[in-house]
Amino acid sequence: MSATIIVPALQDAYQGVLRRNPAESEFHQAVEEVLGCLGPVVERNPHYLAERVIERLCEPERQIIFRVPWTDDAGQVQINRGFRVEYSSVLGPYKGGLRFHPSVLLGTVKFLGFEQIFKNALTGMPIGGGKGGSDFDPKGRSDAEVMRFCQSFMTELYRHLGEYTDVPAGDIGVGGREIGYLFGQYKRITNRYEAGVLTGKGIAWGGSLARIEATGYGTVYFANEMAKQVGATLDGKDVVVSGSGNVAIYAMDKVTELGGKVLACSDSSGYVVDEDGIDLDLIRDIKERRRERIRVYAQERGGRSRFVEGRIWDVPAQVALPCATQNELDEDAAIAMVKAGTKLVAEGANMPCTPGAVSVFQEAGLLFGPGKAANAGGVATSALEMQQNASRDSWTFEHTDGRLHEIMRGIHERCVATAQEYGQPGDYVFGANVAGFTRVAEAMLAMGVI
Ligand code: NDP
Repeated sequence: MSATIIVPALQDAYQGVLRRNPAESEFHQAVEEVLGCLGPVVERNPHYLAERVIERLCEPERQIIFRVPWTDDAGQVQINRGFRVEYSSVLGPYKGGLRFHPSVLLGTVKFLGFEQIFKNALTGMPIGGGKGGSDFDPKGRSDAEVMRFCQSFMTELYRHLGEYTDVPAGDIGVGGREIGYLFGQYKRITNRYEAGVLTGKGIAWGGSLARIEATGYGTVYFANEMAKQVGATLDGKDVVVSGSGNVAIYAMDKVTELGGKVLACSDSSGYVVDEDGIDLDLIRDIKERRRERIRVYAQERGGRSRFVEGRIWDVPAQVALPCATQNELDEDAAIAMVKAGTKLVAEGANMPCTPGAVSVFQEAGLLFGPGKAANAGGVATSALEMQQNASRDSWTFEHTDGRLHEIMRGIHERCVATAQEYGQPGDYVFGANVAGFTRVAEAMLAMGVI
């Protein structure tokens, strides 16, 4: 079972992270989880310690922080802070999304960038790890305001990007609209149609079919592989999905296609339960087109649906897919879920379960799939978008979705085999961290002291 950090050299490395990065609790949490799994790895490979691979990996290659000034519709000057943490480029150009949310701090971006290194390694594709964003809140802003913000953000960030250097994508608060404005400004400043510099683009201008669906679909493909390990599938299962954004919507879509019933979904104001199964067309209309709050679903759907201002994890279901944000599912919720009979949890979001919740799940013998494995389908399909851009080609939906499915099966196999190899069968947290870490560590060592 993944655990606290026991090996003294790893504990020293972790203490160094705490000292050098004060008050960045999410970053500490992400590092602790990975280092907690590496004990048996450094025992087998003491040269990882001698070469100080772990300390090197805990320090981003580059951290960029910049001012983003822009003018709102009332003519008022607004100032936000922009970030890009270029974490590791040993496997390929930095790759990872941009998050626009008022809660974004440097530590948030560092935690996401750190996770991204191992996630990207797990896909087996040639992509390094990075992440970025801003404390800008797109909620309630007009399209013109969002455009002006994105243009100002890119006016600084462009000098750090490039299809061989750093390739951002979307994340919370950054969808197709924002990627469009960012790409437009990049193209204008550089005078280059460098399609591979951003992923998640529109289909008409260099985007990949199946990219928008990829994270949610990939999470469900992964969850289904986990279920198969115990001779089950998602068919006929009750499922709860937190969030109602990009990842959640397409996770719900795939669950429904595979015969599961989605009972509830949420946003930051609360959740809706629908005993007849969530009507996805209505959710998409409310969230993707009208950009309204989740309570509107219950008002318009009526029937056996209702809105609740509380935690979605109180809705009993055999399968739970947390697809909203970090630390949204705590130990208390996990205990309630185990009691209510939840059998499988797969993280569509990044680090949505607290360490306490993960321990509860693992001790109860639940199948638990961590985000860096389960939600890797998004970045993997971004890499497929880059491949299409590089060859000036565009693949069919079926082809890309088929590749995604194959990649998710591969990640699942890698996690299972690695956990097995180290005598930790069924521990996906261990399998994902160790398989991802090993690929990155080997590449680092091959490249000398970098
Ligand atoms: P979206 O912005 O499309 O949706 C986010 C959803 O989560 C919304 O329903 C939002 O509700 C909810 N949410 C956000 N913050 C909070 C909060 N503090 N408390 C409760 N609910 C919250 O983002 P994505 O769907 O793209 O991302 C969701 C998660 O998946 C994130 O953890 C992201 O890092 C991860 N992820 C995304 C990938 C992608 O391809 N998009 C790839 C891999 C991981 P509200 O509207 O009320 O804020």
